[in-house]
Amino acid sequence: MPAVTVEDTTTLPRVPLPAPRTVRRRTRSVTTAPSGFEGEGFPVRRAFAGVDLRALDPFIHMDQMGEVEYAPGEPKGTSWHPHRGFETVTYLIDGTFEHADSHGGGGTISNGDTQWMTAGGGVLHIERPPEELVVSGGLFHGLQLWVNLPRAQKWVEPRYQDLRARESVLLASADAGALLRVIAGEVGGHTGPGSTYTPMAMVHATVAPGATLDLPWRPDFNALVYVLSGAGSVGIDGAPVRTGQLAVLGPGDTVTVRGAVHQESRTPALDVVVLGGRPINEPIAMYGPFVMNTADEVRDAFADFRAGRLGSIPAQRVEGPVPHAAVRGETG
Ligand code: MN
Repeated sequence: MPAVTVEDTTTLPRVPLPAPRTVRRRTRSVTTAPSGFEGEGFPVRRAFAGVDLRALDPFIHMDQMGEVEYAPGEPKGTSWHPHRGFETVTYLIDGTFEHADSHGGGGTISNGDTQWMTAGGGVLHIERPPEELVVSGGLFHGLQLWVNLPRAQKWVEPRYQDLRARESVLLASADAGALLRVIAGEVGGHTGPGSTYTPMAMVHATVAPGATLDLPWRPDFNALVYVLSGAGSVGIDGAPVRTGQLAVLGPGDTVTVRGAVHQESRTPALDVVVLGGRPINEPIAMYGPFVMNTADEVRDAFADFRAGRLGSIPAQRVEGPVPHAAVRGETG
C-alpha cells in the first residue's frame, strides 16, 4: 500500500474528461519483467527487459525494487559505483533509502519522496537503506528509472533534486475512481515538481476496482504503463495487464487504464506508473552504468572511471586501500 494515499479522492482537483475527438492510444506490446537481484541483493523486477530501446526512448531502464518486507538485519543496498550520460530517478513508494555521492551530495528519501540525480559527465554514488532500517527491518518498495540525456547534455554538471512526497501533485480522475500522483511533467494543466533535461512526465496512479482512468497525454510523448501491483487493462483495446507487466502504447492523446473488478486481497487496487517523454532519436551505446552515443565513448567512460576522473569516494567513506587521488591530494 503506497505511503501517499488520500482518504477521499473526491476532494482533489480532477483531470478533465478527454475531448470528444480524443485519440485513445492502443496497446502495442505487453511484456513481463523478469525478477533478479541488484547490488548486494535487493529484489528487483527489470521492467523494460525485452522491449526495443526505440519504443522506450527517452527512457532506457527501470527497476521495480521490492515490494519486500525485510526481516531485521536483511535490508541491502549497492556499493559505490559510477554513472555517466543520463539521469536516475528513484521514487520510493514505501520505506527509506539513503544516498551519498562523490560531489558531497547526499540525503535520505522515504515514503513517497523522489530523488532525481543527473549523472551528466560523471559521478560516483552509493544507494542503501539507513542503518536503523537494517536493524529494524521493514517494508521497502520503490522504482528506479533511467532517463537518457541527449548528446549535447551528456557532459552537464551532476545535479541532485530531492523531491518530497508533499511536493508531488495529487489529482483525481474525472469520476474520482483513480488517485494520481504527478511526480514530473504536466497532466491536465497540473505540473509535478521534477525538472528534467528531456521533456517527460511520470505519474503514479492507484485505480480502484472497476474504475477507468482516461489520462490526457501529450501526443509528442511516448506512453508506457508499468503495473506495480494489481490487475486491469490498458489502451482502447483493453489489453489485460497484471503485476510486473509493461504495456507500450501507440500514438494518440489519451492513456486509458482500467482496474479489474476483482483484485487479489493483498493488492486491493491497480497501481501503475505511467511514463512518457519526447524521444531523443540518437544512437545509444550503453554498458553497465554508462549510457553514451558510441562504443568509443563507453570505453572512455570506463577508462575515466579507472583513472579516478569520475570523482573519488569521500574520505570518511573509504574502506580498504586509499585511492590514488587522495594520495596525490596529500602530497600536492
Ligand atoms: Mn546507481
